[in-house]
Amino acid sequence: MKGRRALVTGGSRGIGGAIALALARAGHEVVINYRSRATEAEALLEQIRQESGTATLVPFDVRDRTAVNEAFARLDVDARPFQILVNNAGIARDNPLPAIEPADWTDVISTTLDGFYNVTRPLLMPMLRTRWGRIINVSSVSGVMGNRGQVNYSAAKAGLIGATRSLSLETAKRNVTVNAIAPGLIETEMSKTAPLEEILQRIPMRRIGKPEEVAALAMFLVGEQASYITGQVIGINGGLV
Ligand code: NDP
Repeated sequence: MKGRRALVTGGSRGIGGAIALALARAGHEVVINYRSRATEAEALLEQIRQESGTATLVPFDVRDRTAVNEAFARLDVDARPFQILVNNAGIARDNPLPAIEPADWTDVISTTLDGFYNVTRPLLMPMLRTRWGRIINVSSVSGVMGNRGQVNYSAAKAGLIGATRSLSLETAKRNVTVNAIAPGLIETEMSKTAPLEEILQRIPMRRIGKPEEVAALAMFLVGEQASYITGQVIGINGGLV
C-alpha cells in the first residue's frame, strides 16, 4: 500500500493538513495543494520531510481551471497518475440567506463544486487506467442535515455528495472507490467563529472533533481494508443530532 501518489487539495492546514501528514506517514508521495497562505504549507512540508516523508507543495486556486491544468501539466499527471485524491479545499461564508451576498454564494459553491470538477476530471482517466484508486470528498454534516446560516455551504456540500454517489457508479468497475466524509464540528480555523456553546449542546460527546480523527477515517478509506466501500457518505461528528 505504500508509495502511491496522492493529492490533497487545501492540504496545508486543518483537516487537509492532518490528512496530508497521515498519508505521508503511511509512505505515500503527497502533493499538498493550498490557495495562498504559504507559511502553514511550508511548516507542514518541513515536518513531513523531517519525518522522512515525501511531499511537495503545489499552490493553486481550485476554482481556476487554467491554473489547475497548468499545475497538472507540471506534475505530469498522465505519465505519473495520482491514485489517491482528497478533495478537501472548502470555505464557509455563513449568514442567513437574505444576508448572503452574491460573492459569498458564488465563492462557496465554486470552491467546493467547481473545485471538485476542475481537479477530479483531469486526474480521473489516468487513475482509472491503473485499475486502483481512492477519491475522498470532504463534505459536511451541513450537506447531510442542513444548518441555519449555511444555505450556500449546505448546498455546496450536498452537491458534493451527489457528485460522490454518481461518480462512484462510473468508476466502480475499475476498482476506484469514491466516498464522502461528512465531518461535524472539527477544531480548525474554519470553525473558530462557530457558536461553540450552542453546538456542544447538540453533540452527545460534548466536544468538537480533531483534524487527526478525520484523517484516521480518511486513512481507513484509502486502505485496502476499505476496498468494498464506495458511494458512501460517512459521518464523523461525535453523534451530532
Ligand atoms: P481550513 O480553513 O482550516 O483550511 C482550508 C484549506 O483549504 C487551506 O489549505 C486553504 O488554503 C485551502 N483552500 C481554501 N480555498 C481554496 C481554494 N480556492 N483553492 C485551493 N485551496 C483552498 O479548513 P478546514 O480544515 O476546517 O476544512 C477542510 C474541509 O473540511 C473543508 O472542505 C470544510 O468545508 C470541511 N469541513 C470542515 C469542518 C470544520 O468544522 N472545520 C466541518 C465539516 C467540513 P490557504 O491556507 O492558502 O487559504
